[in-house]
Amino acid sequence: MKIVIDAHAGFCPGVLRAVQKAEKMLAHSGELISLGALIHNPVELQRLQQMGLITRPQEEPLDAERLSDLKDRRVLVRTHGLAAAGHEALRQAGAQVEDATCSTVRRVQTLIAEKDRQGEQIVIIGKKNHAEVIGLAGYSRKPLLIEREADLEGAVFSDRVAVFSQTTFDRDRFFSLAKIIQDRVRHATVHDTTCRHITKRLRRLVDFAASVDVLLLIGGSHSSNSRVLFEACRAVNERSFKIEGVDELDRSWLRPADTVGISGGASTPRWQLEKVRDYLLELSAQ
Ligand code: SF4
Repeated sequence: MKIVIDAHAGFCPGVLRAVQKAEKMLAHSGELISLGALIHNPVELQRLQQMGLITRPQEEPLDAERLSDLKDRRVLVRTHGLAAAGHEALRQAGAQVEDATCSTVRRVQTLIAEKDRQGEQIVIIGKKNHAEVIGLAGYSRKPLLIEREADLEGAVFSDRVAVFSQTTFDRDRFFSLAKIIQDRVRHATVHDTTCRHITKRLRRLVDFAASVDVLLLIGGSHSSNSRVLFEACRAVNERSFKIEGVDELDRSWLRPADTVGISGGASTPRWQLEKVRDYLLELSAQ
């Protein structure tokens, strides 16, 4: 069996920055609280938790009274970002906030706030319950959230609409939903706010998946971008499998003469890919 790790896999810039920030803060003093899971990768999260990271559920809407136990404690805002009201609630609660919002997400928040001020109706295409989408929605007075075609049926649009995407939403699906809106609205401006890093990764990953017999995509089950990347792999290589770690690997997927490619989502560190590679090396030596 030949085993190859995707040269372009590893943390995306936003997740890398957030994890490095958390590691640095934890090294200085033992406690750091993350509102919601810092990254959608339970294995990596466990490593950070062992260093002292505490995950606290992000109960929306964030409310200063409910957050009062965070007074004078260090709180990390994750890559998905928070609505402006969420930042204000943390400030009122007296938390010491460290902001790890990805710069790409922050740019979308700023643009949404600007278009909202200019009187455009804000439409966000993405997963309605995703923390990033909830955060983005908080920069508009009356946002319309669209996840699938059915959401468009009863939707009421104004004359001037600005359409945005969740950064990790499937780009083709975004454009197809945005097109339906453009056909219905006189002045609809479509802002492609999908993450460029993910788009580039997707292109390279598709080539990689097509070049191997079996593709193993390592990623958290709640990771939106891992799901998007995996579906793209499946489209070019039906022997593509998505797992969180070696415990989920089924040996019947593999044949001795296979070339096995290992890749991961934006929140999968390289050490996790190397762990899967080492396991496969042991397996093929048996
Ligand atoms: S996937 Fe893109 S938008 Fe999301 S954290 Fe990574 S770099 Fe930022």
